[in-house]
Amino acid sequence: MTDKKPADASFASLPLGDSTLQNLERLGYTTMTPIQAASLPLALAGKDLIAQAKTGSGKTAAFGLSLLARLDTRRFDVQALVLTPTRELADQVTAEIRKLARSEDNIKVVTLAGGVPLRGQLASLEKGAHVVVGTPGRVLDHLGRGSLPLATLNTLVLDEADRMLDMGFFDDMVAVARHCPPARQTLLFSATYPEGIAKLAAQFMRSPAMVKVDAQHQSNAIEQRWYEVAASDRLPAVVRLLQHFRPASTIAFCNTRARCAALAELLQAQGISALALHGDLEQRDRDQVLVRFANRSCSVLVATDVAARGLDIAGVEAVLSVDVPQDAEVHVHRIGRTGRAGESGLALTLASLDEMGAVGRIELLQGHESKWFPLAEIMAAGDAPLQPAMATIHIHGGRKEKIRPGDVLGALTADLGYSREQIGKIDINEFATYVAVERSVAKDAAERLNGGRIKGKPVKARLLRD
Ligand code: ADP
Ligand code: MG
Repeated sequence: MTDKKPADASFASLPLGDSTLQNLERLGYTTMTPIQAASLPLALAGKDLIAQAKTGSGKTAAFGLSLLARLDTRRFDVQALVLTPTRELADQVTAEIRKLARSEDNIKVVTLAGGVPLRGQLASLEKGAHVVVGTPGRVLDHLGRGSLPLATLNTLVLDEADRMLDMGFFDDMVAVARHCPPARQTLLFSATYPEGIAKLAAQFMRSPAMVKVDAQHQSNAIEQRWYEVAASDRLPAVVRLLQHFRPASTIAFCNTRARCAALAELLQAQGISALALHGDLEQRDRDQVLVRFANRSCSVLVATDVAARGLDIAGVEAVLSVDVPQDAEVHVHRIGRTGRAGESGLALTLASLDEMGAVGRIELLQGHESKWFPLAEIMAAGDAPLQPAMATIHIHGGRKEKIRPGDVLGALTADLGYSREQIGKIDINEFATYVAVERSVAKDAAERLNGGRIKGKPVKARLLRD
């Protein structure tokens, strides 16, 4: 039985310091996830490791706790390097490691990803970094310039190694590993195990232990429902499903970019708040779309699999597969975006007759038959348009202007009199700040904020339109 709980899934069974254990408790990490229970004892013992588990299973803490345990903060040099496929993932991993490191003073974690000027990164590296998280391309840039000394590195982590292979980073990963000292620990994490992984490991890992947590046993939290649809009826069927189930947040996956665009347009025309995420977006627009979806200002994120690569968004209630992917693993990936961290999730898939071959491959991979439901029984649960709870206000200026969440919250509550409950997530990036505000007061709040002051400086703010 692979789904049996390990004998002791408490973090206290690991060789971790008291302050780390207390911090984990504060974070609400009461028990290890299965992949953590399987990998942490080996990783903490210094072994090379290939660990495979689906998205959302807690892989970041599995390598994060391990690399932090080996850190010597009295030394000011780079002791751990984490490679991730995308800038967003690098940011997420950095944030998670910082959370895990909170109980220790002054652990410096630096992100090195493309799409941002080198200058700031060079300055951060000069000041001294213990842990570096970056994308292969940008890390190689720094290695080429000599700005990232790795002579004292203890731990190299490849996170989402399968995605990095997909994106053509094989040679880059090998090149980075060549810059690391041979006597180091290498940890490789991956959601799937394509053949490239073994080839990669053979290049630079030392008889790695393999741990794998089966995807099927964890996907019980996801209810899968299948609907047969005439090819011409596909997009209207999406509208009916959304109106019927009314999830607060849905990722709708499409096989092609053209279908994404058509669907987003149709949903918007039906009064359903939807934003499309596709490869053509400028980085700034992409950031904005993701912020608005994650902060509950947008009900439906319409995306291709490529554009959604590496996304980790909590609380996605439903995944809607608008068409069936040819590759069965892609289906498993799609539905894994919901039902995270013990929550339940809904996975709706539309399939036309000519997609039944792909459906068969998915059934084989999942080891069970699909449950079909008639579309005809789907009734709209009400005529009210599907609107999100929040709307987003965009404020010019971000970290560069030293804006902090407390400043924004203070301006809205203390200065303008809104209640704490009316304010949602506050995201601050380098040049922009986004704050989610209860939809009914958002327009008013944006107008009042605009022309006001934050930290004594005049503010330019506007409501982002649906
Ligand atoms: P993965 O890398 O496998 O996709 P993440 O590391 O991003 O997964 O973790 C998914 C979520 O689960 C994160 O929000 C993380 O904070 C949370 N998490 C990780 N470990 C635990 C734990 N032991 N208990 C509770 N939540 C956890
Ligand atoms: Mg991850």
